[in-house]
Amino acid sequence: MRVEVLGIKIDDYSMQETVIHIQEAVEKKEQTWVVTANPELIFAAGADARLKQLINRAQLVTPDGVGVVWAANRLGHPVPERVTGIDLLESLFPIATEKKWRIFFLGSKPGVAELAARKVAEQYPGVVWQAQHGYFQLEEQPEITEKIREFKPDLLLVGLGAPRQEFWIASHLDLATVSIGVGGSFDALAGLNKRAPQWIRDIHLEWFYRLLKQPQRLRRQMVLPKFAWRVVKQGKDEGKSHTRRSR
Ligand code: UDP
Repeated sequence: MRVEVLGIKIDDYSMQETVIHIQEAVEKKEQTWVVTANPELIFAAGADARLKQLINRAQLVTPDGVGVVWAANRLGHPVPERVTGIDLLESLFPIATEKKWRIFFLGSKPGVAELAARKVAEQYPGVVWQAQHGYFQLEEQPEITEKIREFKPDLLLVGLGAPRQEFWIASHLDLATVSIGVGGSFDALAGLNKRAPQWIRDIHLEWFYRLLKQPQRLRRQMVLPKFAWRVVKQGKDEGKSHTRRSR
């Protein structure tokens, strides 16, 4: 089942279920696009019909963050938990090591994707990887896409920031079996941005921790109250049309 939050259809799968879907897609070689939809991306799609249409074409759209979990709950269709890009990767790597998946890391500043990949491969030795930074020029793109194509990734992780990574993946779906937009995950995997301690994640305040560590995120997070207001409005509108229908 999918719950529609401001026009974006979010899957109501748990982390475990999402991982199973991805594993099956890799095993059956079914081309699959995974969007990790955070409130900023969902809000941006509200002002960009093309982005909205693209995201709704993805095979899996996960609730990335406590704001989306709250929204789904508020709209009367709860999702079990948040499924963020970094948590999803950390759940996929143990399978990748066992199955010897080929993973391409595309994105972040020069050296970072490579460092992230090295650290992952140290911890998960079976993983076969290649990496490419995300600050390439348009004219370098054909060479990069060829490099990815030749590598034949089971997983293509794209950390170019949202929504650029979504547009990029949408036009390069044929490069890999499963493509996932992972935002700033490589920075975290490389150890450049420390994740919040587990207890802060458990009380759903990771967003606040990131804000304290990276105050420049404030401008992005200003969108959160507007997101919340629109969700409340969507709930009211749906309530009204439901009452009208049941009269
Ligand atoms: N990035 C990139 N190329 C660009 C712009 C950004 O590779 O042209 C990377 C950036 O280095 C960072 C990621 O995209 O690693 C975006 O991270 P952000 O924290 O904004 O994403 P979030 O995790 O919040 O979605």
